[in-house]
Order: sequence, then structure tokens, then C-alpha cells
Amino acid sequence: MSEAELVLRSTRVVTPEGTRAASIAVTGEKITAVLPYDAPVPAGARLEDVGDHVVLPGLVDTHVHVNDPGRTEWEGFWTATRAAAAGGITTLVDMPLNSIPPTTTVENLRTKREVAADKAHIDVGFWGGALPDNVKDLRPLHESGVFGFKAFLSPSGVDEFPHLDQEQLARSLAEIAAFDGLLIVHAEDPHHLAAAPQQGGPKYSHFLASRPRDAEDTAIAGLLAQAKRLGARVHVLHLSSSDALPMIAEARAEGVRVTVETCPHYLTLTAEEVPDGASEFKCCPPIREAANQDLLWQALVDGTIDCVVTDHSPSTADLKTDDFATAWGGIAGLQLSLPAMWTKARERGLGLEDIVRWMSANTARQVGLDGRKGAIAAGHDADFAVLAPDETFTVDPAALQHRNRVTAYAGKTLYGVVKSTWLRGRRVVADGAFTEPKGQLLDRA
Ligand SMILES: [Zn+2]
Repeated sequence: MSEAELVLRSTRVVTPEGTRAASIAVTGEKITAVLPYDAPVPAGARLEDVGDHVVLPGLVDTHVHVNDPGRTEWEGFWTATRAAAAGGITTLVDMPLNSIPPTTTVENLRTKREVAADKAHIDVGFWGGALPDNVKDLRPLHESGVFGFKAFLSPSGVDEFPHLDQEQLARSLAEIAAFDGLLIVHAEDPHHLAAAPQQGGPKYSHFLASRPRDAEDTAIAGLLAQAKRLGARVHVLHLSSSDALPMIAEARAEGVRVTVETCPHYLTLTAEEVPDGASEFKCCPPIREAANQDLLWQALVDGTIDCVVTDHSPSTADLKTDDFATAWGGIAGLQLSLPAMWTKARERGLGLEDIVRWMSANTARQVGLDGRKGAIAAGHDADFAVLAPDETFTVDPAALQHRNRVTAYAGKTLYGVVKSTWLRGRRVVADGAFTEPKGQLLDRA
């Protein structure tokens, strides 16, 4: 390890081969070797010994709504990436909607990149968007480096990002399959939503009934059928309905190229505990019952669900009214996803290795960054989260870096305090103090 500039040492380093005491040698922005714990530190190298704090690969969150430019009162690259860094996330991929413009043309992508460039505290990539009228823009966007394309099958919540009907979905997916791109889908069927009771008001049970599982199940079934017909790569965003799991497993067994994500709020919060009027818990599809949640955990363990991502989608506090029908739908969780997940995972006897698989290794692979992100291994970017897994804290919204300090996790006591976060060999946050933004804008490899 004579070349190392930095050696990061811990009794617990989570590597692809398991957790062990190790010394991570870093030169420039890259990990050059993962060595035995007591390997000699080369002359001139700086030793950072974090004791028994756990070193994880920086998390890769492929589902974040940064909303910048255009709705920067909701969130922005400066605040979102600081919150992410504070939460141990070193890479995020920004969703194409809720910013104005949406990322649906090459010119709009350029605008987004310009806005993000000097505000990113972590590395940032971009999804493109598939709209009813932009099929011609998909290939140029793909060639400009977006990681794939997002589509809605039911109204998105913002007028400038209309959803696709089945025919439009087929057309977009055929185009994306032609260049072997990836389509990521918000899967709720608009007809099933329209047929569900839409009572509105503050009762969570009424909101839950308005977004039934069969809306998700039907949309996913249709998507799987199209993916199968076209040989296309598809990804189910924010799965909430456990009823869809058997058909996903079956489709995959038949060779359909489908991956699946779910979110910390579906895995750590339950419908039973949502107070009436508490629309900080509103998201679509909704947080469902505890029994449903058990099946989502089981599917993570058995591999039917690949990834856990935040779907961080905040708004200003005034849009979080006590009427579930009209309140903004989206949960702010960027800074809290790691401790929220770790708290419940440890209760279930699962390990930090599992968290790393779902929130770093598999998400990196999902967007083709797995040669560079998502693992503590030689040749990878030196991105780390240093975690005190047995320390607890109580969530104080005022202490969050999110632009709007509205969170469904307020008051919860969580395990796992992020002590520092490292991006490409540099410590970017330690004990709440940030460096200047050094994040890079990433292109699809
Ligand atoms: Zn989303």
C-alpha cells in the first residue's frame, strides 16, 4: 500500500465479502486496496482511525425529487444534497418531474445540469421523463447521459408531467427498448383509482381506500406484459402493494427483465399508526397495513424486491394540509433513510450488510454505476458513510437539512448516527459541519 494517501481504518468495514476489521487505502478519489486491519500505514499517508464505528459504502439513492429549478421553495440541489450527505448518501439520481422544466428534452437536461453544477455536495445523476408527446426526445436524452426514463400510468400530481395511457406506454417502451434503455414506472392504474371511493378529508383510512392495492397490481401486470412482449427493461418504482409480489417473481422467473424498489416509509411506518389529518404521511401509492409491510420485508430478504430508495418528495408546509385528497403527496426522508431502515432491520434480525445491499450495491447496479459506486472494493470511488450503529437520536425536524422541515419521522427515536460522510476520498460532512460542494454530475456509463 505504498501509494496510499489516506488510510481509513475500522474494526467493522462492510465489504462485498462481509464485515471485517480492515484498513481501506485511498489514493486520490479511489479505493486502491482493502487491507488487513493492522497493515502498516505507508510513510506520508494520513491515518483516519474511526475505531469501532462501521464504515459502509456511501449509499446510492436512485429516487429523489430535487425540484430545482422551478419549485426550489420545495427543495433544491444545495439543501437536498446536504441532507443526503448528512444521511450517509453519496450519490443521488434526480427524478425528472416537479422541477420546471421537467427533464424531458436535452435542452431541459442542460438547464438542470447548469443549476445543479455548483450546488451538489454529493454526486448527482438524472433520470429523463417519458411523456405522451416526447418519444422523439428519448434517444437524444439517452445519448446525453440520463440513466433511464420515468413514466406515470396515472396523474403525476403536476400538470407539466402528464401520464401515459397504455398505447403511449407501448410506443415509449418500444423506442426505449430499441436502444436498450430502462423505463422506470409509477404503477397505479387510473381506472382503478377512479373507481375507488374518493371521500377526501382528514381520515387516513379514507385515503388508503382511495388508492387500493388493485390499482398497483393492475398497472404492474400491464407493465410486465408489455415488457415481456418487447423484451424491454422495466423497473417498478416505490412498490407498496405486496399483492403484486407473486406476479413479479413469476415474470422474472420467465425471463422478464424487471427490477423493483420500495421505500423506507413503506417498510418502517404503517397505516395503523398514521394520525388523521397527518398528511406528512401522504404518498402515492400509500403506506399500507402492518401485515402488508411484513411481506415487503420478506420480499427484500428473498430478493423479489431489489432496492430501497427514499422517493424523497417534499413540498412547502402549507401544501401539507389536513385533507388527504388535496394535500401534496410525497414524503421527505432523505436525511433519515439510513437510520429509519437500520432501526427496523435490526429489530428483524437483519444486518448492515443487508442495508448496504438494498441501498447501495443494488441501487448502484440498477443505474449501471456498479463498477464505480456501491462497494468498498479496490477500484471503486472512495465514498463512505461512517456510522455509529448503536447510538440513538430522536428526530427533531428543526435539525434536518431538508429545505422544508416537515417529516413523517418527527419524534421517532432511531438507531444509527452518521458520524461522517466521504465523497471520492474527501470528508464532506462530519458531525454536522459541511465542506464546500464538490459533487460531480454523473452520466450513464
Ligand atoms: Zn417519486
